[in-house]
Amino acid sequence: MQKEYEGIINQARAEHNLGREGIEKLLSCDGQALDFLFAAADQVRRTFMGDAVHLRGLIEFSNYCESNCAYCGLRESHKTLPRYRLDAAEILAIAGAAVPLGYKTVVLQSGEDSYYSAEMIAEITCRLKEELSLAVTLSLGERAEEDYRLWRDAGADRYLLKHETADAELYSSLHPDMAWENRKKCLYTLRELGYQVGSGCMVGLPGQTLTSLAADLLFLKELDVEMAGIGPFIPNPNTPLAKAQRGTVELTLKMIAIARLLMPQTHLPATTALGSVDSKGRQKALVAGANVVMPNITPNKYRRLYEIYPNKICLDDNPAHCRNCIGGIISSLGRTVAEGAGHSPKEQFTLGLG
Ligand code: SF4
Repeated sequence: MQKEYEGIINQARAEHNLGREGIEKLLSCDGQALDFLFAAADQVRRTFMGDAVHLRGLIEFSNYCESNCAYCGLRESHKTLPRYRLDAAEILAIAGAAVPLGYKTVVLQSGEDSYYSAEMIAEITCRLKEELSLAVTLSLGERAEEDYRLWRDAGADRYLLKHETADAELYSSLHPDMAWENRKKCLYTLRELGYQVGSGCMVGLPGQTLTSLAADLLFLKELDVEMAGIGPFIPNPNTPLAKAQRGTVELTLKMIAIARLLMPQTHLPATTALGSVDSKGRQKALVAGANVVMPNITPNKYRRLYEIYPNKICLDDNPAHCRNCIGGIISSLGRTVAEGAGHSPKEQFTLGLG
């Protein structure tokens, strides 16, 4: 049995390819086979991405959302949640304070909030690039192609839009006001516009099977993403999924490790969600294929209100403290914090990019 798993892992390590059956098989491995999987993913990470860990400073600039995803505490129908929006000056000030801490990339994230016009986001993007020389990742959900184009023209480097689940039936049950086909269309539009595309999924959603999870990895590979965020589903008491079981750390780590075997040059974050369900979750991910951490640099008074899931870590830490803590975690693993902007190592993004 052990030999059979080793054969699949070695094949994936050499060819960076696996079919649905092979992925499902690896998702059910345990014991020595699991250790072998994590070690293989760690070796592929070292070979293709090196030992440096990239930091992305996350600014959660609006918790308004017009959607009603079944798993998310920011959903529009969560009426008792106090809502906030940051303006351009506040966003620029937060990003400016992150530069001396060594951040080279900021991620601007919000719910689906049409209050921010495409022009407002383009102007903020332009200023982050010109005044602070930061790489910019946008994560504002589904928008029109013209908006994505305007932001790309304004200098946005990356766009993060998780696909959440590639199981079309499960997707529609979780997203009453969104369509899987449109999600895919947005992601392919971002790809055509030349963004470094980030996507990703949750692990352990109610109704999700190993076949669904294999479909997630095959979708990420087909889209050839530059980043894949894979985290456990964590039930939020203010949502219809309040009583559902959360996703496990082990299955999430297996997904990250298989993602690394299949996509050797893709940035894989050790997610905050993983760190929230296991105090060593991010460390475990960093030795199972991950190479990115996204510390929160949102001011403390807002962090608690950006509650997609409960009991998020670092709610009371300030950005300087988070930076030190993350630096400590990274060096304790014998790794270093990356010095550059952390663009995708794929040739089309390294040519002419810093
Ligand atoms: S997951 Fe995103 S789009 Fe869905 S409710 Fe939460 S913030 Fe809104």
